[in-house]
Amino acid sequence: MASVNHDSVDQWSLRGHLSDLTAVLALPAMWKGRDPRDVTISMLDVLGRLLRLDDARARLSPPPDGCPAVEESWSDGAAGFPADLFDHLDDVPSDEALIATSTVDPRRGTPVRIAAVRWRILGAPWQVWAGSRRLDFPTDPERFLLRVTVEQAALAIETAILLGRGKEARAELETVHRIGQALVAELDLEKLAQRITDAATALSGARIGSFFYNVVDERGESLALYTLSGAPRSSFPDLPMTRNTPLFAPTFRGEAIIRLDDVRQDPRYAQNPPYHGLPPNHPPVASYLAVPVITRSGEVLGSLFFGHPAPAVFTERSERIVAGLAAQAAIALDNARLYEKARRDIRARDEFLGAVAHDLRTPLTSIKGNAQMMRHHASRLSPPLDNHLVASLERIERTTTKMAALIDELLDVERIELGQPIELERSPTDLVALARRVVAEQQLTTRRHQIRVETAENALTGRWDRSRLERVLDNLLSNAVKYSPNGGEIVVSITAPLAHAEIAEAVLAVRDPGIGIPTRDLPHIFERFYRAANAAGRIVGAGLGLTGVQRIIRLHGGSVSVDSREGAGSTFTVRLPL
Ligand code: ADP
Repeated sequence: MASVNHDSVDQWSLRGHLSDLTAVLALPAMWKGRDPRDVTISMLDVLGRLLRLDDARARLSPPPDGCPAVEESWSDGAAGFPADLFDHLDDVPSDEALIATSTVDPRRGTPVRIAAVRWRILGAPWQVWAGSRRLDFPTDPERFLLRVTVEQAALAIETAILLGRGKEARAELETVHRIGQALVAELDLEKLAQRITDAATALSGARIGSFFYNVVDERGESLALYTLSGAPRSSFPDLPMTRNTPLFAPTFRGEAIIRLDDVRQDPRYAQNPPYHGLPPNHPPVASYLAVPVITRSGEVLGSLFFGHPAPAVFTERSERIVAGLAAQAAIALDNARLYEKARRDIRARDEFLGAVAHDLRTPLTSIKGNAQMMRHHASRLSPPLDNHLVASLERIERTTTKMAALIDELLDVERIELGQPIELERSPTDLVALARRVVAEQQLTTRRHQIRVETAENALTGRWDRSRLERVLDNLLSNAVKYSPNGGEIVVSITAPLAHAEIAEAVLAVRDPGIGIPTRDLPHIFERFYRAANAAGRIVGAGLGLTGVQRIIRLHGGSVSVDSREGAGSTFTVRLPL
């Protein structure tokens, strides 16, 4: 606060202005929570009345970060000065100085006295002019009150700006965080890069933005890509070549953020062939901001560049926001890269599995063929072959058939996983006969379970892929057996559509009295490799069967659903369009 100069302020005047001073000192309480413009208007009003002014003006320009420029006037009605009188006044030359000058009101030809004060608000010049037609203006007490009032207002404005900055910083953090969350949810690298570019360009206030980043392609080779926001790709014919110029290189090396009010003034600008500056179609750029995207471990993932045709557009704030966003982008990019890598690994594994399954099938077919042939020859031998040997040959045949079906299933699942099409081999297929066949086969594998078919139909025929449907039922039945360790009755029921049904579909249900499926696992059991909590680790399985079942049924245009409670058995229902 300004100190009182006891030599120049005589004691009487000071006493006379004591109540004014008390009022001025109470101003900060009144200005609490108001914005810089409000405080300025109120201050001019207080000054006008306190110092009996005819006219006054205050200006905060250029303003500090986070505050708009403020310029406000006050006048005492008809006594006010011509509008442009203050415009001709020079800025107050130094901070905290109060100068008083005389000038002439050109409209009336009479002298006016003007006192001017300059203060600083967060480093920005804060100037107040107070004018009066009194020739003794300003008296010492008036100077004193003017200074104290201006100083109080400066403090109130400073507080308002800082509070605003706090709020703004919180809002900034929230925005960056919100965008960060959205980014992390995007696992597709190119889409992610575009989102990062768009968000950062919008938030920074840039006209154009670009993002250069590296990706590893399917073959594991590194590629340099870029995305743009605010300009078409044709504007940047040679962008990938820009990396090694003195202006860009430090960003690509992840050294620091570069923010320039006018890139054209920078010595590093326009030094390089072929364009010595911007390519011909490039949108004009004065303001320039470049931010590297770096992981926590220090790896440079890419670089963000922003431009605007007007100079000095990017502020400390834009820099802060983009830096925050770049940090979130680094995390999101890292995730997306890991995801891509996992996908590549899974694909490699799928291809391997597919190849192995394929290679296994050929020798298996030959084993099965040979077993069949041996049984055929054996049946004609005299004396006939030992029954045990015949039974063994039959078992070999059965198990190889089962293995071939398992391999086919694996091949199907892998094929779908790799995005390769599966051709159904449709032919007229009787579901009832098919079910009886598969049930009989399954019954051979167990004595603890009784498996039966329940249906009112003699036959129910549709154009379906017979061997795949056999696999479906085989899967459902072997699950029913496997997940009913205490044995019991397993029922396959088959229902034909009602005569007037809207959709003509056959419904096949497999009901077992087994361990059931926990509610939590129910929505997932058709997912590949998924196994319910009460099955995994206790009952052997791979979690593939139902995936294959669902896919085959869907290829037929049908659906499969499950109804089950843990400990109370399960029913799998297949609906097949006829
Ligand atoms: P697998 O049986 O090889 O584990 P599936 O894809 O056939 O794979 O089944 C996935 C999971 O669904 C099983 O691990 C099991 O938890 C559950 N499941 C399937 N069928 C039944 C059933 N009939 N009773 C109880 N749980 C079942």
